[in-house]
Amino acid sequence: MTTPLVTLRDVEAAQAVIAGHVTRTPIVPSPSLSQRCGGDVHLKLESLQPTGAFKLRGATNRLMALTDEERRRGVVTMSTGNHGRGVAFAAKRLGVPAVVCMSSLVPRTKVDAIRDLGADARIVGDSQDEAGVEAERCVAEDGMVMVSPFDDPAVIAGQGTIGLELLEDLPAVDLVLVPLSGGGLIGGIAVAVKALRPQARVVGVTMERGAAMYESLKAGHPVPVKEEPTLADSLGGGIGLDNRYTFALCRTLLDDVMLVSEEEIAEAMRHTFWQDRLVAEGGAVVGQAALLTGKVAAAGQTVACVLSGRNVDMHQFVDIVTRPASGGAPS
Ligand SMILES: *Cc1c(COP(=O)(O)O)cnc(C)c1O
Repeated sequence: MTTPLVTLRDVEAAQAVIAGHVTRTPIVPSPSLSQRCGGDVHLKLESLQPTGAFKLRGATNRLMALTDEERRRGVVTMSTGNHGRGVAFAAKRLGVPAVVCMSSLVPRTKVDAIRDLGADARIVGDSQDEAGVEAERCVAEDGMVMVSPFDDPAVIAGQGTIGLELLEDLPAVDLVLVPLSGGGLIGGIAVAVKALRPQARVVGVTMERGAAMYESLKAGHPVPVKEEPTLADSLGGGIGLDNRYTFALCRTLLDDVMLVSEEEIAEAMRHTFWQDRLVAEGGAVVGQAALLTGKVAAAGQTVACVLSGRNVDMHQFVDIVTRPASGGAPS
C-alpha cells in the first residue's frame, strides 16, 4: 500500500493550528436553489474570511509550520490573487516578509489588497506559469520559501478544514459541490468528507475556459492548458506539469468533475446576489451554476456548495448583476 498523500489526521491537525487565525464560517440554507433543483441546498460562506476567500486557511497552516530560519528568509508565492492575499495576511500577522508574483490577468482589486497588506506584489507576464518563473527565481536567488497555492500537503490540509466544519454543521450531506482549479480546495475537502462520510459525493466544478484539472484527469496526467480571461479568474492557471499531490488526490477521491460556461457563471452570480443576497466572485459560484443548469442532479439530496470567495471588482460585479438575466427580471 502506498502512503496516503494527505490524511484526515493532517486535516484535523490543521484545524487545531489555524483555529483563532481564520474564521469558522457559517453554512446557510438557500431556499431559492433548493426550490430550483428539488434538493436541500446550503452555501458554505468562505467569502466571510477576513481576506474574502478560503485560501487564508491553507496559507495560515503552511506559514505556521515555518521554522524560525525560514521566517527570516521570507515566503514567495504565485497567485491568481486570493492565495496571494491569504499569504500576505498570514505573513503580516507572523511578521514574515512575503513576495507575491501574479500575471497581468489578476484583477486590480486583488493586487491592491495584497499591496495594502504590506506584501511585495509583482506583476510578471500574462499567465500564472510566467508569474511562477519569477517566484522560482526568488527561491533560487534570494533563498525564500515557496508557498504553493495548492500543491502542498499543509495547504491542502488547511483547505480541508472546510470539510470538517461542513460535516459538523450538515452531517447528513449527500453531495458537496466545490469550485476546482489546482485542486487544493477540493482535495482537502475530499480527504475529510470521504474519511468521515464516504457515501457523500464530492464533485468539482470549473469553467470551460482553461479547465486544467478536468483536462488533466481526462488525459490521465497533468497537461498544460491555454489560460484565457474568464469571469472565474480565480480558477485560472495550470496544475503544474510536475504536480505531486492534488492530481493524485483528485483522481482518487472525486466522484465527478463538470464544466460551466461564462454565461452560466454570470447567471449564478446574479442568482446568488438577487436570491441569496450575497456578493460572490465568478469562481465561487460554479457549484450553484451546476445546480441551476441541472448539470448535476440534486433532487431529494442534501447539498453543500462551497461559496469560495467574494473578491470581485465591484464595478464589474454591479455590471453583471444588473444585466437582464436570460430568465427574466430579478425579483
Ligand atoms: C483558488 C480558488 C479556488 C480553487 O481552489 P484550488 O485549490 O486551486 O482548486 C476556488 N475559488 C476561489 C475563490 C479561489 O480563490
